[in-house]
Amino acid sequence: TKELEGKKALVTGATSGIGRSIAVKLAEAGATVYVSGRRAELGKETVALIEQAGGTGHFIVADVANIDDVRKLAEEVGEVDVLVNNAGIFPFSPTPEQSLDSYQQVFDVNVRGTYFLTAALVPAMVAKGRGSIVNVSSIAAVIGTPVGSVYNASKAAMDALTRSWATEFGHAGIRVNSVAPGPIATDAAVQGAGELFETITDLTALKRVGQPEEIADAVVFLASDRASYVTGAVLTADGGYVAS
Ligand code: NAD
Repeated sequence: TKELEGKKALVTGATSGIGRSIAVKLAEAGATVYVSGRRAELGKETVALIEQAGGTGHFIVADVANIDDVRKLAEEVGEVDVLVNNAGIFPFSPTPEQSLDSYQQVFDVNVRGTYFLTAALVPAMVAKGRGSIVNVSSIAAVIGTPVGSVYNASKAAMDALTRSWATEFGHAGIRVNSVAPGPIATDAAVQGAGELFETITDLTALKRVGQPEEIADAVVFLASDRASYVTGAVLTADGGYVAS
């Protein structure tokens, strides 16, 4: 049997990029996958990819920056075995030019969305005595970049939540981990980070960008029982950038 057979998973921001790839790989591993995001057309494309791969997927529209949407999403999905907090935004700005709105939006999506969706879904996991939560953070949590201060801080906050929740819910058999990607070839990252993306890629040990599937494999590992003794960890998947 497949390693996630019979499991139910929810992936936020699964309408593109890394989230879409995570949704497909979880389905390939046997999970029924709830795909959430803001754009229904793109969400349905992800579901079609899941079905092409022989899996089962459902799309639920939800903006994780909207607390009503977060609560409705949790209600509609009900209980899950695997929660992947992947939705994220990465607008860049020099600190003196940072707008209050953009600062707020980064924390609303990356941190508050992750926080309250997890808060809504974790009680059912505790009741069942099992569950795996994976936060998609970033190497940005541990490296400085000249124009990403708010994003970097938001990802460090996600890793702090990972460690806190691992401690808070470990007694109930729930594992909580982060995956910290390096430069991954998604449209949003390549276009959004521009030169910085190339600079970071050149400094990886492997001298190449990563593919979304390489992050998805790390997430499937953490979601599955193969990672049964792994919790509170940040799994860096960055081609050796941080090590270099
Ligand atoms: P992406 O833009 O394709 O993926 C982010 C997804 O989140 C998109 O589908 C987007 O629509 C969704 N999203 C944004 N705001 C949302 C909201 N309010 N509600 C619901 N969904 C929302 O980019 P990606 O590169 O696939 O990034 C995915 C995750 O990986 C992000 O958390 C990002 O910070 C992280 N990451 C990416 C890289 C990289 O190089 N690509 C590196 C490190 C970390």
